[in-house]
Amino acid sequence: MSKPSAKDIDALLPQTQCGDCTYSGCMPYAKAIAEEGDSIDRCLPGGVKTLKALAALTGQAAEPYLDEMANKQKPHQVVAIREAECIGCTKCIQACPVDAIAGAAKLMHTVIEDECTGCELCIEPCPMDCIDIIAINHEPTDEERQTAADKARTRYYYHQYRLERNEREDKQRHQTAKLAKTEIKAADTAHARKAYIEAARQRARAKKDSHE
Ligand code: SF4
Ligand code: SF4
Ligand code: SF4
Repeated sequence: MSKPSAKDIDALLPQTQCGDCTYSGCMPYAKAIAEEGDSIDRCLPGGVKTLKALAALTGQAAEPYLDEMANKQKPHQVVAIREAECIGCTKCIQACPVDAIAGAAKLMHTVIEDECTGCELCIEPCPMDCIDIIAINHEPTDEERQTAADKARTRYYYHQYRLERNEREDKQRHQTAKLAKTEIKAADTAHARKAYIEAARQRARAKKDSHE
């Protein structure tokens, strides 16, 4: 069996980017499996289904992990904000890896249920403890799981792109402001130098006049 790539492995992961696997997201875990042979039993949102799919792809055995995974796998879930208690601090928005929360500073926030992967990353930062986990009773079909994962992956990479773009723009704004400050300082210096020379000339002229 040829060694699967990180991309092949990532394609089987649920893309909640929750970090339960102890990596910073699905792709870093996929890389650890592909490049370092890390074990395939770390993805709790993926549960038994993902474990079996990873076993089939990588050749690692699923059996030793099956019972434990069946016990600890995470149910399908989303979260909801108790909006009356929300103070609009935006901490949840900053924590959400797929931009599934709508709201603005000092205004009530709300979770877009259709975009929420249930990763729980917004819960801990909320100072009001007003985000609840809602279990989804419907067990998704394989096709629904795949569609949800593909959508979450797209939203996650767009989120990353947006953060990087904002950082780039902030840096650019900072550099432009710095440059403008330097130019103003240089102009002030040139103006002061000119004024100093002119004053010196006038003093010299006045001195000359007084000697005539
Ligand atoms: S969904 Fe699975 S692979 Fe992705 S970050 Fe969470 S635990 Fe890791
Ligand atoms: S709203 Fe919360 S639980 Fe849902 S995807 Fe965003 S961070 Fe994860
Ligand atoms: S972190 Fe909590 S209080 Fe702050 S905006 Fe989000 S839901 Fe509201």
